[in-house]
Amino acid sequence: YRAKDAGLGYLPYEAEHGLELHARVNLERELARALREGTLELAYQPRVGAANGRVASVEALVRWRGREQEIPTERFIPVAETSGLIHSLGEHVLELACRQLRAWQARGVPLRVALNISARELQRDDFAERVLAAIEAHGVAAEGLELEITESAAMAFAESNLDSLARLKAQGVYIAIDDFGTGYSSLSYLKRLPVNALKIDRSFVRDMLEDPTDAGIIETIVALARSMGLETVAEGVETEGQERALIALGCDSLQGYRYARPGPPEALEALLERPLLRPDRHESEA
Ligand code: C2E
Ligand code: MG
Ligand code: MG
Ligand code: MG
Repeated sequence: YRAKDAGLGYLPYEAEHGLELHARVNLERELARALREGTLELAYQPRVGAANGRVASVEALVRWRGREQEIPTERFIPVAETSGLIHSLGEHVLELACRQLRAWQARGVPLRVALNISARELQRDDFAERVLAAIEAHGVAAEGLELEITESAAMAFAESNLDSLARLKAQGVYIAIDDFGTGYSSLSYLKRLPVNALKIDRSFVRDMLEDPTDAGIIETIVALARSMGLETVAEGVETEGQERALIALGCDSLQGYRYARPGPPEALEALLERPLLRPDRHESEA
């Protein structure tokens, strides 16, 4: 405690704090460069229909292969959000997704591509116009595009954000609430949200077999979605036990490592050949 008495106790903290800031500034600069050079890519993860085991939609997840190693998305998205780089990131992602969608639609591959949208992107006045302009410029069907907005972002929306979503939905763009169950939706607000689907947060799926409360929450979300005419997607499905339980609870589609990790479009196309659920699934449930 001598060092502390001498007033040196705070040094390690300050050094760490300085490093943290330094790393952040660095990351921001590197991200700006990656966006300029167009080196960010999309990985695609399939969603499996519970009714037939087929892949009808995929989620596009941004990937940044840095100079030495891949930088975790959960690390750079927050930096993009606070620095404002999220806008050019979002435009880049939209561009890449539309290009891929165009390629699939041209070959008759019937996939819908879901994009993750940050609250700050949606808060821009011209958000809906930009998305519609991209759809038009690439000559893709609006029905091929889906937007995922997290529940916490959706709860912070102003009327104008709801109008943007409503406009997009009216044009055929599919809208989903991501990480559902972790925000603080009031049911009366949820009722007013122009959406098509609820994505059940991974945390509930992870523990559903051990914790009856989590299974109960999923059951409640499915019932809520049904009563509102919405679809449900379960994220983070890793095991057969979870798959069985989610199908029994009436989830419409399943997504997770059990079927595939996010990967390049070619890897995804290989999964379209055959159903990804065993055909005896429903009978064996009885
Ligand atoms: P999210 O939209 O909830 O995406 C699901 C995350 O769970 C992804 O992580 C995915 O790789 C991961 N995942 C999928 N299946 C499993 C599974 O079975 N087990 C586990 N443990 N994880 C699974 P990722 O790609 O690191 O993305 C993290 C978050 O970053 C996303 O959460 C999303 O909020 C955000 N994000 C990703 N791409 C974009 C983007 O293009 N734009 C924006 N604004 N945000 C993005
Ligand atoms: Mg998502
Ligand atoms: Mg999610
Ligand atoms: Mg998430």
